[in-house]
Amino acid sequence: MGLSLHFVVDPQGWCCVGAIFFIWLYNTLFVPKLILFPRFEEGQISVAAILAYYLTSIFCVISLLRASIADPGKLQDSPKIPLTEKELWELCNKCNMMRPKRSHHCSRCGHCVRRMDHHCPWINNCVGEDNHWLFLQLCFYTQLLSGYTLVLDFCHYYYFLPLKAINWDMVIFRHELALLRISTFMGIVMFGGMCSLFYTQIMGILTDTTTIEKMANCCDEISRARKPWQQTFSEVFGTRWKILWFIPFRRRRPLRVSYYFANHV
Ligand SMILES: [Zn+2]
Ligand SMILES: [Zn+2]
Repeated sequence: MGLSLHFVVDPQGWCCVGAIFFIWLYNTLFVPKLILFPRFEEGQISVAAILAYYLTSIFCVISLLRASIADPGKLQDSPKIPLTEKELWELCNKCNMMRPKRSHHCSRCGHCVRRMDHHCPWINNCVGEDNHWLFLQLCFYTQLLSGYTLVLDFCHYYYFLPLKAINWDMVIFRHELALLRISTFMGIVMFGGMCSLFYTQIMGILTDTTTIEKMANCCDEISRARKPWQQTFSEVFGTRWKILWFIPFRRRRPLRVSYYFANHV
């Protein structure tokens, strides 16, 4: 299976992705420059803290870019339906194509997506069977990066000793203060938003229920775990190796487990 790229033409979505990318770039540029490097020079933090920041930042942006341009699980034009699974497929009345159950037609993208979770404007892409794992990584690393940024912003003012090397004039000092206040504001918004989103996503995977299924209010039966958590997570991430669940630099290979055998409608 080759690397399949997917690009949704939606100017509103581009603006949303642009905003997220801007927040990432802003913090990746200013937090090391204003906090990490000066504190390191004065011996208040270690080189490991700087490396950890950059590593989290790289994992964050890679999962953002990959989640945005990965094929979420778009259906092929003429899918081959295995004879044994025929009753597990249905017709989409919008694009008039056969699709496995649990697929959903995304009106924003204009096609059906396998095991679609939702359409996310912040990555300008659907979240479906093939990129759900990247979306989860994005939530995880964004939480980590914004949490780390908030801790650094806090320590910079309230915990670390004042920088001895400050010989800037007042204008530069005020400029630095404004930049860090913006960083703190972004950190609070991102951390708060991502914590609630991540929690919702994890609960969805644990109960093997997509966001669309939850919203369709057909969850009375679904909202209880029917598979071990290791299995539901392994199916989403495409591997049983838990360490690989955290790595965005790899290709997902679907496990030999069919989602369509679940009793979802
Ligand atoms: Zn469709
Ligand atoms: Zn979509």
